[in-house]
Amino acid sequence: MAALCRVRHRWKRTNCIQLLTRNLTGTFDYDLVVIGGGSGGLACSKEAAQLGQKVAVLDYVEPSVKGTKWGIGGTCVNVGCIPKKLMHQAALLGTALKDAQKYGWQITGPISHDWSTMAEAVQNHVRSLNWGHRVQLQDKEVKYLNVKGSLLDEHTVKGLTRTGKEIMLTAKNIVIATGGRPKYPTHIPGAVEHGITSDDIFWLKESPGKTLVVGASYVALECAGFLTGIGLETTVMVRSIPLRGFDQQMAGLVTDYMEAYGTKFSWRSVPKSVDKLSSGVLQVTWTEEQTGKDQRDTFDSVLWAVGRAPETKTLGLEKVGVKLNKESGKILVAADESTSVPNIYAFGDIGEGRPELTPTAIKAGKLLARRLAGQTNELMNYDNVATTVFTPLEYGCVGLSEEEAESRHGKDSIEVYHAFYKPLEFTVAERDASQCYIKVVCKRGGDQRILGLHFTGPNAGEVTQGFAMGFQCGATLTHLKETVGIHPTCAEELTKVNVSKRSGLDATVTGC
Ligand code: FAD
Ligand code: NAP
Repeated sequence: MAALCRVRHRWKRTNCIQLLTRNLTGTFDYDLVVIGGGSGGLACSKEAAQLGQKVAVLDYVEPSVKGTKWGIGGTCVNVGCIPKKLMHQAALLGTALKDAQKYGWQITGPISHDWSTMAEAVQNHVRSLNWGHRVQLQDKEVKYLNVKGSLLDEHTVKGLTRTGKEIMLTAKNIVIATGGRPKYPTHIPGAVEHGITSDDIFWLKESPGKTLVVGASYVALECAGFLTGIGLETTVMVRSIPLRGFDQQMAGLVTDYMEAYGTKFSWRSVPKSVDKLSSGVLQVTWTEEQTGKDQRDTFDSVLWAVGRAPETKTLGLEKVGVKLNKESGKILVAADESTSVPNIYAFGDIGEGRPELTPTAIKAGKLLARRLAGQTNELMNYDNVATTVFTPLEYGCVGLSEEEAESRHGKDSIEVYHAFYKPLEFTVAERDASQCYIKVVCKRGGDQRILGLHFTGPNAGEVTQGFAMGFQCGATLTHLKETVGIHPTCAEELTKVNVSKRSGLDATVTGC
């Protein structure tokens, strides 16, 4: 105990001397200390170092409730976009294998999927990305510290190693990019003990088996989509609507397609409890809102995809005066990513009102680094960010949903053009294309400025990315129609939309 007190005393003394020196001389260990080495934090720190700043980045992963751990790179690399897209690809290949037979491929014997082969390959790729990040930081002379950061004041960060050792870093500016972690519905008995989240699913060594996915947004539908696609019996439990915030007609097409391809949906249902039976299976009880009746079924795994909570609790923000949104727990930020405390900035998933997407975090991080280095005044433009939901039938969009356009501009002031099209690759494979749909929401009159663009179909991300640039440049329906399509593609159907919803005409595309 006495030894501990002596260490603490010595630490405090060093601390005080360091702070005193800093205050007297105005010199810091670093120009910039970034807490959080995810998509945003890494982009910010590397950009700053390239601009000649002395930079340190702190990244520390608290294991998930189930004990899952991973390396540097944050959510996207380890437990988000990357493993998700690869498992989505695994599922798409399963569908392609079925199509392949119609195209003449002779596939003898039953086709089956092996989880461990997929998981190992995906995990190896993720580990290679972790390694790549470390190498890049070294090359760019960013000091990487695997410590948990918290704030002592507007220029000082305390880092805590896994073994409990404390280090101190002073910096002219501090950036917080600590992202978020999946929430657990702690009020549901058995939820924490028996459930997993997206922090675990990509790192499972064995197949999750028959799975209940609770939630109906991006994470839930994407995970349920690839689980179904690789042949696992999967149910999605939806308490209200799917893909809240997205165009609801499009969301309906996404879930219709999933249902048609085997995902079960338990609509308007709320989970009540999870019990582990002696056989090891999980018995879930839920209430159906319409009937008020309780239902029961057993599953091998329960995946909670009920949203994410910001990683702010252990950052010491209140002590330093960094203001949070009390409801969301996220950090209140201005357009230049500054917080309520000078010299402290925050962005990415941790920033209040920011899209929870990797490209926005990366771009915002780079711009912040450039501003802090005095290279530019340019602010991040968070408007009109395109996104794609990687469900079995992908859904890409940019701009307003039909509902949002109606409420902002009035039903009579918008014109909605639409088309049901059949991807050429679906024809020979005899696949149903009922949910392949395009919707272009325009301002009514004149050149008909495009307010929102929506696309369900193969490669929706690739299709939407290109059109997003036109949208960013203020594209109108006239521009769209003046664009010559690339034949034969699904994207070309966007350049050909000419049936308005108001006309009531059949929107099915026939012929070329
Ligand atoms: P993060 O990437 O979460 O990084 C934060 C880092 O800070 C983490 O490494 C964390 O461990 C670390 N950290 C936290 N606290 C501390 C501390 N005190 N000290 C040190 N380090 C700390 N976005 C897309 O654009 N496309 C997609 O397809 C997509 N798919 C997704 C799929 C899933 C399942 C999930 C969960 C998310 C997905 N996202 C996707 C969202 C995307 O992953 C996030 O928006 C993005 O990672 C946010 O970046 P960030 O830098 O703000 O935070
Ligand atoms: P989310 O968008 O916050 O959605 C949470 C979902 O869980 C909603 O469907 C919600 O239903 C439901 N829910 C919440 N509490 C519940 C409860 N107690 N019981 C049952 N259902 C409950 O969260 P998310 O899906 O985790 O996504 C987080 C963010 O990650 C997204 O905003 C997105 O930006 C990012 N992301 C992006 C991609 C991509 O770009 N492709 C992919 C994945 C994630 P209600 O609607 O009824 O509230």
